[in-house]
Amino acid sequence: LEACEALDQQVDAAAAQRNEGCRRWWWRSRYRAFKAAGADAQALAALEAMVVQVRRDRELSLNAQARVLLGEVRMEIAQQELAQLRREAQELRERADVATQTSLLDPLTGLANRRALDARLRAVLPMGPDPAEGFSLALIDIDHFKQINDGWGHDVGDTVLCEIAMLLAGGVRGGDFVARIGGEEFVVLLWGQALDDASLACERLRQQVQAHDWSRFVPGRQVTVSMGLACAQPLDDAAQLLRRADQWMYAAKREGRNRLQGG
Ligand code: GH3
Ligand code: MG
Ligand code: MG
Repeated sequence: LEACEALDQQVDAAAAQRNEGCRRWWWRSRYRAFKAAGADAQALAALEAMVVQVRRDRELSLNAQARVLLGEVRMEIAQQELAQLRREAQELRERADVATQTSLLDPLTGLANRRALDARLRAVLPMGPDPAEGFSLALIDIDHFKQINDGWGHDVGDTVLCEIAMLLAGGVRGGDFVARIGGEEFVVLLWGQALDDASLACERLRQQVQAHDWSRFVPGRQVTVSMGLACAQPLDDAAQLLRRADQWMYAAKREGRNRLQGG
């Protein structure tokens, strides 16, 4: 029996070496040795101890597996959350881009708005020394627009604004810039043209407005615009340039409307 008990040391030695197969083999040998020696009570105790230990080992192993699985699941969830956050960040970026775009557009006509004009003028003023980079600013105001609103309604007034926007945008050169800066006032920036050429271009726009078929919107009435044209000077800031164009535009109103004034 002592020899049988001594087999326990082999079991411990195998456990210390983490050799599970070897440990079980010694365990089983110990149990069989007790049995062969007719020590049934010890054999049963050895068997029970073995079963308890095997069950504990299995639980430990299952726990370890569960921990690994849990780790993998957590990793998967973290990756999904990361991907979702990336998508949301991208969406926010796109929404911010759209918001920036929208804040620079006039919602009625789709033209650039006053804020976009100010930004453009800030970018190009004060002008550099190269005359080829020079430009002129035309301020355009619809004549007696209030009468159109009063006579045909605000919706027709809006339609007229959109038609004018279309005529101006379609009537300028590719790089030119057209904005609606409020109410019935528009601005066109004409690039790289001497004042005479810019005057011709503006006169063409004025004539296009006058010649447009307005009978569909305001039967029996002509829609016309008055324009003030100012050439950007080297030391101009935006306010000075706009003020000069505005003064010319009011001069055009005083002279009888439906005309261009500038210098
Ligand atoms: P003038 O020839 O001296 O420029 O006369 P006007 O009637 O065009 O100018 P006034 O400043 O007296 O009137 C401008 C009108 O424009 C008044 C306002 O109700 C109208 N208006 C401003 N914004 C809008 C808009 O978005 N839609 C419409 N339909 N009307 C607008
Ligand atoms: Mg006005
Ligand atoms: Mg007006």
